Amino acid sequence: MASHEQTSGASSGWLPDLLFTQGKFVAGTALFCDDQGKIVRLSREANDLANARRLPSRAILPGLVNTHSHTFQRVIRGRTEHRSKADRDTFWTWREKMYQAAARLSPEDIYQGARMAFVEMALTGITTVGEFHYLHHQADGTPYTDPLLTNKLVIQAAREVGLRIALLRTAYVRSGFQQPPDPGQTRFITHDPEEFAAGCEELDRWAAEKYPAGTVQVGVAPHSIRACQLDYFRQVDAYARRKKCPVHVHVSEQPAENEQCQAEHGATPIALFAREGFLSDRFTAIHAIHITGEEVRLLAKHRARVCACPTSERDLGDGAVPARQLLRAGVPVGLGSDSQVQIDLLEDARLLEYHLRMQSLERLILAPDPEGPGTLANRLFAAATRSGAESLEIGDAELREGSFADFFTVDLQDPSVADPDPETLLTNIVFSAERTAIREVYVGGKQIVAHGRHHAQEETVRDFVQVQQRIW
Ligand SMILES: [Zn+2]
Repeated sequence: MASHEQTSGASSGWLPDLLFTQGKFVAGTALFCDDQGKIVRLSREANDLANARRLPSRAILPGLVNTHSHTFQRVIRGRTEHRSKADRDTFWTWREKMYQAAARLSPEDIYQGARMAFVEMALTGITTVGEFHYLHHQADGTPYTDPLLTNKLVIQAAREVGLRIALLRTAYVRSGFQQPPDPGQTRFITHDPEEFAAGCEELDRWAAEKYPAGTVQVGVAPHSIRACQLDYFRQVDAYARRKKCPVHVHVSEQPAENEQCQAEHGATPIALFAREGFLSDRFTAIHAIHITGEEVRLLAKHRARVCACPTSERDLGDGAVPARQLLRAGVPVGLGSDSQVQIDLLEDARLLEYHLRMQSLERLILAPDPEGPGTLANRLFAAATRSGAESLEIGDAELREGSFADFFTVDLQDPSVADPDPETLLTNIVFSAERTAIREVYVGGKQIVAHGRHHAQEETVRDFVQVQQRIW
């Protein structure tokens, strides 16, 4: 029997060469989980080691958490790297192309795009995703017969692929302050905040009935202060406080957004959110690139979080997230694939540091002090795991008793790794591992990737290619 096949039965155990727990790799330790997918013990007992499935030349690490994703944008990959008619191509000209694609997608296309993105996530070791979903209605703004149709399809796609998902249901109301309506945004818009909140409530009820506890979370996402005006934002925030659910918001991705907010409210977005009482440990600012030192202080004061999306931000020319100031102030920073130009959270982790190196002509910018605990790789890996799980309030991103058995394996003989040394391995993985090194992925003890392939990979790619041929 092959050594990495799907598991079943009351208790499953795995014995890799090395296992990452409590910030370091340990040898001679097996991981066991129950039939609910929870870790029941990490064991060094001889009997347990003999009974666990041996994973030779493998390291086990906790699954990665992709905190910010728009799966439908997977369809524009390869289609935005040419000049438009504008004098300068920027985030805003890219957005026009993205809107053109968004208008063409049927619910079936949205589902297939989501499946494709989620399979690719699984192949890179991602076990939990936060999907910031705003394609709610038909292209002309008419709701579907089931107004929650596309929300449900995206959740369904994640569960079929095997990922945990936090669906961040997005409130989108307008083009911007004193801006005429943009037809490209029509299908995103829900005019009535009460109707929006009722939809969240209904989606939460539907997911709780349909899926096991801990697999689906429903949060809210006022899209941005540009797209969701203040009175509406207040109502969405009030709903989130009642429900005790996560709140994700695009914040200061581009300077123009700050200028509009300043003109409308006399404050930059985070300063405004602090004034309104929106900031809390349930609040995650997506991007938070063009922010002031005072705004960093406000995020820290209210224990709010940030999610950086470096592969997407470099593609869009957004700028670099000021992670040095954020981490110094104690603001947790997670990571997201955002526009899906690449799906590789380890690349996002290294870019969080590399963008700052290119700006400052220094090295080891996010590294702890030499006397401090952990390493730079520990910090970046925490951004790719624990920070995301805390922000989305789903999954555990830690391998310890009581946590979900969500993990991936790295082949210690992959040419990009070739390193069995537990002291250097995490740094090697975070800075240099290629996707070829990721061989098996498990969510709740259930295998979804074997030998570097997802069980539904072939049909997912085939169906997605058909969507692409139809819409382009
Ligand atoms: Zn985004």
